[in-house]
Amino acid sequence: MFDVVVIGSGPAGYVAAIRASQLGFKTLCIEESIDDDGKPNLGGTCLNVGCIPSKALLDSSHKYYQAKKNLSVHGVQIDKLKLDLDAMMSRKDEIVSQLTGGISGLFKANKVESITGRGKVISKNVIEITKPDGSKENIDAKNIIIATGSKPIEIKAAPFSKNIVDSTGALSFKKVPKKLGVVGAGIIGLELGSVWSRLGSNVTVLEALDDFLPMTDPDISKDSLKEFKKQGLDILLGSMVTSTKDMKDSVKLSYTKEDNEIEMEFDKLIVAVGRSSNSENILNDDLGVSIKNGLIEVDEYCQTSVSNIWAVGDVVRGPMLAHKGSEEGIMVAERIAEKHTEVNYDLVPSVIYTHPEIAWVGKNENELKESGIDYNVGKFPFAANGRALAVSESIGFVKLLSDKKTDAILGVHVFGPSAADIVQQALISMEFGASAEDISLTMFSHPTVSEALHEAALASNNQAIHIGNKK
Ligand code: FAD
Ligand code: NAD
Repeated sequence: MFDVVVIGSGPAGYVAAIRASQLGFKTLCIEESIDDDGKPNLGGTCLNVGCIPSKALLDSSHKYYQAKKNLSVHGVQIDKLKLDLDAMMSRKDEIVSQLTGGISGLFKANKVESITGRGKVISKNVIEITKPDGSKENIDAKNIIIATGSKPIEIKAAPFSKNIVDSTGALSFKKVPKKLGVVGAGIIGLELGSVWSRLGSNVTVLEALDDFLPMTDPDISKDSLKEFKKQGLDILLGSMVTSTKDMKDSVKLSYTKEDNEIEMEFDKLIVAVGRSSNSENILNDDLGVSIKNGLIEVDEYCQTSVSNIWAVGDVVRGPMLAHKGSEEGIMVAERIAEKHTEVNYDLVPSVIYTHPEIAWVGKNENELKESGIDYNVGKFPFAANGRALAVSESIGFVKLLSDKKTDAILGVHVFGPSAADIVQQALISMEFGASAEDISLTMFSHPTVSEALHEAALASNNQAIHIGNKK
């Protein structure tokens, strides 16, 4: 009998397993994906085909693009620049192996047992494991944590095939497609569209909605759309893909825009229209755990209606983000140990790793307007930040929103250099209940791009030093 059995080894599952074992529980992690040696392929979407390989390619392609377009302003001339896509892909694959192998090491060091197979909860305390050879084994568990993650959504208008791929396929093209179509101007569409555009593809992004990145602050939505178009991404809003045909060496696509039917042809098409949770066939129906819109229903502590069965990460409500899943995994392990750990769902940071980066935490201006809260806006452009100018990264801004009455920081939105790190600084201060004045009275190193956060806080109370204040 195990104290804790975790199903799935992504960032939600493996972190839950390690924490559970640290807390003294006899812990097993079940993973269905296997590597070439028949061992569990740990790390889930994030490490294998998500966060890590996409960031490896974003970084490599950025370096190539910089060398091609932007280094000459620094006085660095490169005469014979050449792209070695195989080397770029090998680097990405090595990083993935290093990190997934690292999880096996962490499991050993933390005494977490792992097993290959597909797990299914068949009763309150029993999990059936279907092994890769088809044999079955039942495991007894006092507590069960479901962390089975998510998979790309496939749409009828563009079923996956040789040239119509999901995000996983788009991380391993063998050559740079001349003409690349992307369905969905969401996070994956923009990140992977940017990778291939920087490497030389002519990229068209088709987005069904009329709004661009509607979850971001309206200023970010507006400015980033302009910037990405300038970088060469042809982003077509209000464009609904109606059909596609894989022609062996190309893809024919039809979409409608304002009642017009338009045809395009691409070498490859990436479909990135969201992800759906892996909640099917994970729990026996008679357990009574409810699944709504594909998500396993849990309370704020990730507990299902069966008290010893928990679910974390992409398989439950909330943003599909690795860090959100990991924090839920830790919370659940600690709750099993009867601690009172919570996740602060109001402060989940989001980052889009384009260049410039987009990052935010808390409420944006649209949300504050909707909720009728009176707020101050402090905005500081990187064009007025010394360090940003020194490194030729002066596009974008920091925008800080604070409560008009209490001065509490309600949201921070950054489009520009080190956006994720600047937002993280803001998030830590928000966790401690900081006001805009608290940030204003904090000393920031000079010259850093973080000073833009300082100035945005000052600007929210009309005290900015390096830009004009509102009269
Ligand atoms: P997953 O990582 O999906 O892991 C679930 C695991 O469970 C898998 O290994 C699966 O094989 C296993 N499993 C499923 N069913 C069973 C079963 N029945 N039995 C046994 N095992 C099973 N998020 C970020 O925060 N930052 C990023 O930069 C980022 N970039 C991304 C880029 C891409 C291209 C993609 C696709 C996603 C990205 N994400 C990013 C999202 C992130 O990858 C997910 O939010 C995260 O991986 C979810 O973690 P999880 O543990 O819930 O599930
Ligand atoms: P998404 O929800 O971010 O974007 C999907 C986009 O596709 C939306 O804009 C939607 O309006 C559009 N769309 C939906 N159906 C369409 C259709 N038929 N035609 C045209 N457009 C259509 O989803 P995603 O980009 O696939 O990413 C999935 C999730 O993975 C993200 O929501 C995020 O949680 C996670 N992720 C995070 C990161 C990160 O943190 N940097 C990176 C990649 C992925």
